[in-house]
Amino acid sequence: MKKIIFFNSLGRKLEEFKPLIDGYVSLYCCGPTVYSFATLGNFRTYIFEDFLRRTLEYNNYQVNHVMNITDVGHLTGDNLGDANIGLDKVEEAANKEKKTVYDLTQFYIDSFLKDSSALNILKPKVIPKATDHIQEQINMIKKLLELGYAYQIEDGIYFDISKWKEYGKLSGQKLNEKLAGARIEVKGGKKNAYDFALWKFSPKDVVRQMEWDSPWGKGFPGWHIECSAMSIKYLGEHFDIHCGGADHIAVHHENEIAQSEASTGKTFANYWMHGEFMMVDGNRMGKSQGNAYLVSDLIEKGLNPLAFRYLTMNTHYRIQLNFTWQGVQAANTALNRLFNNILALKKIVGGVKGEINLNFKEKFLNSINNDLNMAEALSVVWDTLKSNLSDEDKLATLIDFDLVLGLGLKDLEEEEIEITPEIEELLYSRKLAREKKDFKEADNIRNQLKSLGVNVVDGPDGQKLERIT
Ligand code: AMP
Ligand code: ZN
Repeated sequence: MKKIIFFNSLGRKLEEFKPLIDGYVSLYCCGPTVYSFATLGNFRTYIFEDFLRRTLEYNNYQVNHVMNITDVGHLTGDNLGDANIGLDKVEEAANKEKKTVYDLTQFYIDSFLKDSSALNILKPKVIPKATDHIQEQINMIKKLLELGYAYQIEDGIYFDISKWKEYGKLSGQKLNEKLAGARIEVKGGKKNAYDFALWKFSPKDVVRQMEWDSPWGKGFPGWHIECSAMSIKYLGEHFDIHCGGADHIAVHHENEIAQSEASTGKTFANYWMHGEFMMVDGNRMGKSQGNAYLVSDLIEKGLNPLAFRYLTMNTHYRIQLNFTWQGVQAANTALNRLFNNILALKKIVGGVKGEINLNFKEKFLNSINNDLNMAEALSVVWDTLKSNLSDEDKLATLIDFDLVLGLGLKDLEEEEIEITPEIEELLYSRKLAREKKDFKEADNIRNQLKSLGVNVVDGPDGQKLERIT
């Protein structure tokens, strides 16, 4: 197998990837909280994870990709590190939309899968829901209580971070500093400010749609415990790679490590990889920030969702990417140029017949295996197109690269141009102008057609239209 280098957030350095089992990779990615549409910010992270999976598969690894669906327990205060505050995002949205939580979450799960597929994100092998794994979460909490890592207070069961001496190892925060210098108030009988909820009791004055019996009383699981319980169920107590967005490092993933390693006594995941934020004017793109765009916004603006996928390739996943419509537009233009080149090659070659060029393949592999350098991989794509390889070999090589790029090059076909009445009329006027040898008028009409996105070519069979990109 060829060498693959990844940046491991655990230890904050580039490391050679070595799987636990030869030829096999266990990969867990934190999935969406399904109370609303996933934003293009969220999708930047899922696309990075898709490049990761595809890169591993391109290197001939079999990847067991698990992504959870958070449909309970994610509180509005969770990302701030105080798992004692806020409302359950899903319950809150269901009440607002006057739906049952199950109708609400199913709707957003379906939307998420549809948008993911429009972005050519490969479907994870397992997509477990938190509400389907309540027992697994209860079992883990029981174990943590038995081992003395958790304690019960009036409103729930909490993990005691002071008992887990390695707390902070992912984000580089020292436990004693975290305990002493806590800037948030210790509320409701918690021992330490950053102790987080494993189980919350249903509030006495609130009727929750989602609540379950537990040995300690009716309630619901905290957000972090679901990822530990489900990753362990599907990938084992010790697995290869755990991913998420950069915001998860300091709280969610730190908590996942603490509760998993405390309950099993084993290393949880060997590699932790995090995608940096999609920004809008200096702020994180987010639902709660009110600056989020969706896949449906791309479609509404007449842009191919894959233009967004292409856009994300230009900026390394560990660097923040500022979202602008101009940027997506430019990516759309570049993507169409690529599509046109592929279509032209397909026309000449008449099918995929050539051989994959090993020289370019080596360069492509060196880029993706170097901590997913997709921008460099894209430049190998354009170099291949410009090279003096035969058309057959170019096409075969690029279609092979697309296993990682995921731009749908193999199935790409010439789109039929829709002849609107306006285009039909212009074509007819141009035909008359040419018959009268009024070439100035014919050129005029050609320019009008161009502004409608089509180019007219005069051939032996008359006027033919081509799409302009
Ligand atoms: P959530 O649905 O809020 O739990 O987030 C789903 C995933 O998207 C997580 O891995 C987050 O870290 C990630 N994420 C959230 N906002 C952004 C953003 N603006 N850019 C990139 N990733 C994000
Ligand atoms: Zn998670």
